[in-house]
Amino acid sequence: MKITDARVVVSCPGRNYVTLVIETEDGVTGVGDATLNGRELAVASYLEDHLCPLLKGRDARRIEDTWQYLYKGAYWRRGPVTMTAIAAVDVALWDIKGKVAGMPVYQLLGGAAREGVMVYGHASGDTLDELSSDFQAHLDQGYKAVRIQASVPGLDHTYGIAPSDGSVYEPAGGSRPQEDRWETTAYIDFAPEMFARIRKEFGYGVHVLHDLHHRLTPIEAGRIGRALEPYRPFWIEDPTPAEDQSAFRLIRQHTTTPIAVGEVFNSIWDCQQLITERLIDYIRASVSHAGGITHLRRIFSLADLYGVRSGSHGAGDLSPASFAAALHVDLSIPNLGIQEYMGHRSPAEEVFTSSYSVEDGHAHPGDAPGIGVEFDEEAAARFPYEPRYLPINRRLDGTVHDW
Ligand SMILES: [Mg+2]
Repeated sequence: MKITDARVVVSCPGRNYVTLVIETEDGVTGVGDATLNGRELAVASYLEDHLCPLLKGRDARRIEDTWQYLYKGAYWRRGPVTMTAIAAVDVALWDIKGKVAGMPVYQLLGGAAREGVMVYGHASGDTLDELSSDFQAHLDQGYKAVRIQASVPGLDHTYGIAPSDGSVYEPAGGSRPQEDRWETTAYIDFAPEMFARIRKEFGYGVHVLHDLHHRLTPIEAGRIGRALEPYRPFWIEDPTPAEDQSAFRLIRQHTTTPIAVGEVFNSIWDCQQLITERLIDYIRASVSHAGGITHLRRIFSLADLYGVRSGSHGAGDLSPASFAAALHVDLSIPNLGIQEYMGHRSPAEEVFTSSYSVEDGHAHPGDAPGIGVEFDEEAAARFPYEPRYLPINRRLDGTVHDW
């Protein structure tokens, strides 16, 4: 089954998405998400200029061989651009394999290991009162797990606060990056106050998550982890910059609060130490930034050996094709922890038609053959790419800090 065409579509139906479409000589089409938020065109070029010419004429059935060919064959391995491009190819080939087999991809991965995939939503607010009412709104929608973020008094533009009009959070924008402010001293007493408020009001029958977005030092993270222990967070996410794996050893020495990291990871090598030394509890690598279904399953298999569970990134910067692919993996692995779910800004639904569903706090990929997402190229053409940057972050004295 030869690949006859591989093309890249960059569009902005509410948010920039890079979509790879692969066609076979039998007329079967597969789609994969190649979106790298804020650096979209780099992946588009990597695919168009380097990978698509190699795909034409290859056998679409040979997923593992294609993965190795693109990974080892590049010589210059890993990195977000390379691995996002390989991921898009991998997911599109799994999509084709599922369509040819007449099965949803999760059946090809061993079948459902559970009835549904627990997802977490995102409650936020400029004040704790606003956070509280948003938290209640998520419970009303059936969520069993909710991430909480609130504006830190004294800091402008705190990370993770959704717009008050109810639309999906989108931090990227503008032809230059927005500049946020951060100071750990302003945050460190506020976070326990925020958790105390939510637990007092809603009790302990719901999972509560929190994202520190790479901003603390290891000892600050240890301190915040310990301070939050009475409120039993499901996890604290990205407590310190993720590339410093040994930092997590220090955090571990000071707290039993579960730790999640990995949305910026691209390969099993980025988390090998974290997993094998049991320095984390949840690995958040995503299907579209960590080499696709083939490689993400390898990461989760390693994690399972060490009691580490999955918790894949699933923000709105990943297209519905990526979220669907994640659900096929989530449903079939033994060590699912949780899946992030943010939904997508309108008019994404005009471009992507999905078979997955989210109900009562759980998601299911549906039973359409392949990954279950159809991509409408004509609709995508109505929403041209818009250059957008993720924000940068500065401390109050002007020093550039992790965003
Ligand atoms: Mg995050």
